Amino acid sequence: MARKKIIAGNWKMNMTPSQAVELVNTLKPLVVNDEVDVVFCVPAIDIIPAMEAARGTNIQIGAENMYFEEKGAFTGEIAPGMLTEVGVKYVIIGHSERREYFAETDETVNRKVLKAFEHGITPIICCGESLTQREQGITIDWIRQQIKIAFLNVTAEQAASAVIAYEPIWAIGTGKVATTEQAQEVCKAIRDCIAEIYDEATAAAIRIQYGGSVSASSAPELFAQPDIDGGLVGGASLKPDFGAIVNYK
Ligand code: PEP
Repeated sequence: MARKKIIAGNWKMNMTPSQAVELVNTLKPLVVNDEVDVVFCVPAIDIIPAMEAARGTNIQIGAENMYFEEKGAFTGEIAPGMLTEVGVKYVIIGHSERREYFAETDETVNRKVLKAFEHGITPIICCGESLTQREQGITIDWIRQQIKIAFLNVTAEQAASAVIAYEPIWAIGTGKVATTEQAQEVCKAIRDCIAEIYDEATAAAIRIQYGGSVSASSAPELFAQPDIDGGLVGGASLKPDFGAIVNYK
């Protein structure tokens, strides 16, 4: 069965609650496309107002992060049960900005992935290499290691429902998009790695996004690749361009 594309926006630390409502209202007529799952991953404080603004549309509101404990003395963190109570179904895990600025590691990513599945939330698991790693020729080895650790103790059934976002760090927010060949090569390597860990059926089911300066002009070619099942979009998800990305065909 063909995989349904999934195109997710990552708002990062942008939009106050009132701005979030305004943006959802602007984008909702533009992102109508039944062939694609459309997710807006928004700051925690925007989740409830964005959901209210998106009610009755095809837009799913997701989170940008989540902690791996149920509750307790973890000041500033957001628990999985807090997300599920308001209806969140997707959460970005291990974005490179979280790894770089908030000390997330492959191990904490794995703990968050397991916790998300425990709560029935689909993780959008980010991986990606730095420019130095690409120049050293170790991109595939690096990504395979990130994937293997992220999926430790994850069952095949859970893995089949996961989303992986391949985001070369050098392409995030830089306007520098990976070439279609580079993006396809790594997304295929990720799918092969999932097949090695699990089996062909799991690899065929899992959805793999490309992320890194996706725009309305680069989306059609990227999303037409056999192993690219959509995108994780930062900057362009805050603009009407996101409608053109969702309707890339
Ligand atoms: C991202 O934040 O996941 C991202 C890919 O950002 P941008 O599209 O702005 O490069």
